Amino acid sequence: KFGAIKEKAQEAAVDLSAYKNVWVFAEQRDGKLMNVALELIGEGYRLAKEISEDTKVCALLVGDGIDHLAEECFAYGAEAVYMIQDPLLKNFTTDGYTKVIKQAIDEYKPEIVLYGATHIGRDLAPRIAARCNTGLTADCTRLDVKVSSYIDFAKKNTTLDTSTLDPDDPSTGIKQTRPAFGGNLMATIICPKTRPQMSTVRPGVMQKRDKVEGATGEVINVKPEITAADIRTQIVEIVKSAKELVSLTDAEIICSGGRGLGDASGFELIQKFADKVGGVVGSSRAAVDAGWIDHSHQVGQTGTTVKPKIYFACGISGAIQHLAGMQTSDIIVAINKDADAPIMEIADYAIVGDLYKVIPAIIDEWDNA
Ligand code: FAD
Repeated sequence: KFGAIKEKAQEAAVDLSAYKNVWVFAEQRDGKLMNVALELIGEGYRLAKEISEDTKVCALLVGDGIDHLAEECFAYGAEAVYMIQDPLLKNFTTDGYTKVIKQAIDEYKPEIVLYGATHIGRDLAPRIAARCNTGLTADCTRLDVKVSSYIDFAKKNTTLDTSTLDPDDPSTGIKQTRPAFGGNLMATIICPKTRPQMSTVRPGVMQKRDKVEGATGEVINVKPEITAADIRTQIVEIVKSAKELVSLTDAEIICSGGRGLGDASGFELIQKFADKVGGVVGSSRAAVDAGWIDHSHQVGQTGTTVKPKIYFACGISGAIQHLAGMQTSDIIVAINKDADAPIMEIADYAIVGDLYKVIPAIIDEWDNA
């Protein structure tokens, strides 16, 4: 089956020069843009300008009654907005969104399409990639421009067959980096023969641009060809999940607890701590696996990627898979009774001690401050 897919992709090898611009799927829910959409507009802008002066970063907005979101996309760096609106697209459906985005890609031929690695992005991107006969790199943590340097690197340093890659190919490609093998190595992936190049990117990893109030750009209204018959699912009710209520991604302060809490009741102290400092509760996977807290709180490679202003790691050792989800936090405070725990190496403030003594002391200080 994979052989057939590969053949199909090779047959689909396209005139790469027909593709231009970087698109960001600007995910919105209830008429509000997701943070990751703004982060990707920032990253898309950086890539676009590295490719060429006249390459644009464009936001792709899909929904209904969402005209107001174009302004926010422009304020964060989008130079154009492709707007696809229809009452049938008011709520996300896999069928509906896949169909209309594929239509827009066929018509406007973006060179790169980025999606947030959210539930919706992870659902959409592979379907669209398959329909476009192109590749997709999921869960990227880094993107770079220029394939040729990669090919040179691969030729010198690996035994891979690079004969099908043309180092003089003038087209620009992106090198997509993602953790592999449980975070123990970083894989670099390219998409040399087909377009668009597609990636899902973890929330919290890329930088937003500074907001420029009043920035404007072109809005291109794309008429979707869609009927109710195209959508095989019907939304009966939308129930907010615990994950949305937790909102780790957008939190400015996170207080996370790990196995060092000893048992589930330790999270009562972490909750008290979070309430005091205005943060939300996170956790390591060990605490989730022990059944002490719901997975929606988990930070890390198989949980949520976060980038708060302050991250408190309480009784967490700092395994690579946990670090993968929080190491870009602005300030990391580790509370651990083991001075040699790996988390201490990346912590800005390392407090060596029993968390059951340290956290109440911080809470007391807070009250007295
Ligand atoms: P431990 O490693 O057991 O650390 C507990 C720490 O608490 C120790 O450092 C100890 O010194 C300290 N401690 C103990 N008592 C106290 C006390 N009273 N006061 C202060 N400190 C104390 N992990 C994640 O977190 N997120 C992920 O997304 C994730 N994904 C994974 C994906 C894969 C494919 C794999 C293989 C693993 C993944 N893991 C993930 C698991 C990860 O490898 C670690 O097992 C896990 O992070 C350990 O959790 P922990 O730090 O809470 O526990």
